[in-house]
Amino acid sequence: MSATEIVVAIDGPAGSGKSSVSKAIAAQFDFAYVDTGATYRAMAWWVLAEGIDPTDAETVAARCEEPRIDLATDPAALGVRVDGVDVSRAIREADVTGAVSHVSAVPQVRARMVQMQRDIVARAAAQGRGSVVEGRDIASVVFPNAPVKVFLTADTEIRAQRRALEDQERAGGAVVDVGSTVAGLEQRDALDSGRALSPLTRLADAVHIDATHLTLPEVVALVADLVVSAGSIMRENGPHG
Ligand code: C5P
Repeated sequence: MSATEIVVAIDGPAGSGKSSVSKAIAAQFDFAYVDTGATYRAMAWWVLAEGIDPTDAETVAARCEEPRIDLATDPAALGVRVDGVDVSRAIREADVTGAVSHVSAVPQVRARMVQMQRDIVARAAAQGRGSVVEGRDIASVVFPNAPVKVFLTADTEIRAQRRALEDQERAGGAVVDVGSTVAGLEQRDALDSGRALSPLTRLADAVHIDATHLTLPEVVALVADLVVSAGSIMRENGPHG
């Protein structure tokens, strides 16, 4: 990675607002937007489509090199494809959401996805573009040298309300129960934070932003300030700094 292309790592639990913040930062700075959760969701979608039990780690490990996964990174034209099929909507459905934390805990799946994520960022850097990468292990594992590291959280109730609202919009207005959304988020957080490999962790060198009482524009402004400061430090230090 050239020192002039910034990587912004945004980690945090489900529903903390990572996607909205990451997309806004990518649009503002013309960076690539890498939704790493979408790559794990695409793999989980394929596992289900193939009739594989997502908790059967051995079979998932043995077959996870099979699907071709393409992730678009332009915040204005996002999407993910599996073997050429657009699964952008399907990966947000409840069956995939329920399966993804099992699939993402499989070491072979993580190795493949991490390589894919690094390749995407390297391609953006080769075109002179920075990247915003959101996920769970971006600052800790995928890009430990990222000049901007953010850990974004919010109270569970707030995260569940936002997620339920998103699900409601996707379901064409059908009311979604916040209580079951809380249970789903807590279960996924527990799996993502408790797994052996690359668990969701808050690093000491990441800037912790609690978005419970902040609006989206306020969070975006905080992260944008970090990006601008990191950019000027990198320019002062020169291309090899
Ligand atoms: O971000 P999103 O909620 O779409 O992520 C879906 C799932 O993908 C997470 O619950 C987690 O299991 C997995 N994931 C991961 N590492 C990442 C990003 C997502 O394990 N960097």
